[in-house]
Amino acid sequence: MPEIRDQLAESTQAQTIVIAIANQKGGVGKTTTAVNLATALAACGKRVLLIDLDPQGNASTGLGIARADRAHGAYQVLIEGKLSAETIHQSLVPNLDIIPASPDLIGADIELIELDRREYRLRDALTEAGLAHDFVLIDCPPSLSLLTLNAMVAAASVLVPLQCEFFALEGLSQLVKTIDRVKMHLNPELQIQGVVLTMFDRRSSLNEQVAADVREHFGAKVYETTIPRNVRVAEAPSYGKPALLYDIRCPGSQAYVMLASEVLRRELGQGALAPTTDGQELTGA
Ligand code: ATP
Ligand code: MG
Repeated sequence: MPEIRDQLAESTQAQTIVIAIANQKGGVGKTTTAVNLATALAACGKRVLLIDLDPQGNASTGLGIARADRAHGAYQVLIEGKLSAETIHQSLVPNLDIIPASPDLIGADIELIELDRREYRLRDALTEAGLAHDFVLIDCPPSLSLLTLNAMVAAASVLVPLQCEFFALEGLSQLVKTIDRVKMHLNPELQIQGVVLTMFDRRSSLNEQVAADVREHFGAKVYETTIPRNVRVAEAPSYGKPALLYDIRCPGSQAYVMLASEVLRRELGQGALAPTTDGQELTGA
């Protein structure tokens, strides 16, 4: 992959914005958000790197990276503490690269305990690499483990996908405490980028009630965009494609385009994106 190697060697652009996508609760839409937000940002012409930091490897699968091609990935980055070119894979989406979850990542949490600067390994690797990407999105596992800590220490902000079910607020307050602790001890810059309500069903009064509570507590931190529950979004990973490539017109894909627009507005003060009805720019066709 000489092209990517050149990118790595290239001097960095103004700034790479690193966002960790985290929630210790399982199945709330972290990976779906990571894959589709990354795709939407790439479709806006941003150079995006998605790091799959979850040993389940769902983001790697969702972007069509075959298991056989995952020998070099996030595990090597963490353990070696550096980012070599062979860990970065081009995805099927133009402008979107991925560091997949290598199979050994399952043991990384334990191996990291013994290493120097164990919470800073990812940050050190990204800093040393001097990436040419505009955005790095990190898909975290459903735990507050050393893997997630590495993501939070490497990131400038955390984007929290939240499913509006009972106990959602409790889980969120635990996460906020962890973010505060990371801020105090490991990464003073860390912010909450925002909270995105996922798999939202307007017909559910529980969903509506929890959403109102979350908006009351977190105010403007909650994105205006909510991601609807949409079967096309759930089907896409089985085709190894982001929902935005599988069906750009479905409500879930359109919502992720709007979310990307909000993220761009928050990060760069830009991004008045019109929802796209044509997927051509995504496939480069
Ligand atoms: P884990 O904690 O296991 O990593 P996660 O937080 O990454 O899970 P996802 O894998 O993104 O969550 O989503 C959980 C399940 O919900 C998946 O089967 C996914 O396809 C489905 N899903 C996510 N978002 C939507 C949506 N908007 N509409 C319908 N299904 C969805
Ligand atoms: Mg996941």
